Amino acid sequence: MPTAPQLSIVMPIYNEQEALPLTVERLRPILDGLGVTYEVVGVDDGSTDATPVLMQKIRQDWPEFRIVRFARNSGHQAALAAGIHRAFGDYVVSIDADLQDPPEKIPEMLSLAREQNLDIVYGVRGDRGTDTFFKRHTAGAYYWLMRRLVGKRMPNQAGDFRLLSRAAVDALKALPEQQPVYRMLVPWLGFPSGEVVYVREERVAGSTHYPLSKMVRLALDSITNFSASPLRLATWLGLLSFLVCIGLAVYTTVEYALGSTVPGWSSLFIGMLFIGAVQLVCVGLLGEYVGRIYSAVQARPAYFVGYDSADDESEGQA
Ligand code: UDP
Ligand code: MG
Repeated sequence: MPTAPQLSIVMPIYNEQEALPLTVERLRPILDGLGVTYEVVGVDDGSTDATPVLMQKIRQDWPEFRIVRFARNSGHQAALAAGIHRAFGDYVVSIDADLQDPPEKIPEMLSLAREQNLDIVYGVRGDRGTDTFFKRHTAGAYYWLMRRLVGKRMPNQAGDFRLLSRAAVDALKALPEQQPVYRMLVPWLGFPSGEVVYVREERVAGSTHYPLSKMVRLALDSITNFSASPLRLATWLGLLSFLVCIGLAVYTTVEYALGSTVPGWSSLFIGMLFIGAVQLVCVGLLGEYVGRIYSAVQARPAYFVGYDSADDESEGQA
């Protein structure tokens, strides 16, 4: 294997035949001017247009451009995962292929990480003026909810434009996650981090590949990856119906005592409410156990070692 480059750029690409040439044109001079060895890992997420041919052409006169091609479309996060797992660099920067994340920020991210010895540098969106009203507000709600799940470590409005150190990449690779959602996993790592503010630009060409269905899926993945609280919903509903049941039982009994009910109604009504509440509580109970099984299956490590002095000594002996 050739020696590892100092920097890897990971770029998920899906049907970007219009945008890709423009992206390469803007990205390449920046990387060439950085004075570090680098590679660009272009992950073709099963494109069905001219993107694969285009990528081969790009590679012909840009040897640093690597191609990883999926056999079928597997989604943005999956493409990111493949790129991050396969990157060799000491630092790995993930960036969209549509120039919405300005590549001019990469040198800033890299020097910030090197100067302050950071493992993570988030690209934080300063302004979403170029996004549609709908996107701005759904994104706002998404980040609000995610910050409640992961905690304040998660910077607001940080998408998938970010730099990771080799240590952070190795930590992410060690996670047995099936559907990794990096914008939550990375803050969860909690490694030393910094931020670079940027303006989210307009998509340079083509149109978004994130229809509502994919956005909903990302949101669902994000929630279920980090929380079993939806399972707890049944418990709360069950307890609520118990309260309602008691209230209505009193009401039914009063009505019964006043003699203003049809025979049989009171007993049936109370029985029905009671059984409903019991069932919901039982489902909630099952949910609690399923939740615990789920977190056991996720098998997230309890810690990551950043430094062990014994490693220095064994290096000295070698
Ligand atoms: N993308 C991908 N697979 C998909 C959808 C999108 O690899 O199924 C890539 C796409 O080529 C782009 C990035 O993910 O580089 C972000 O997608 P897009 O710009 O369509 O999303 P938006 O910026 O509108 O949220
Ligand atoms: Mg985009």
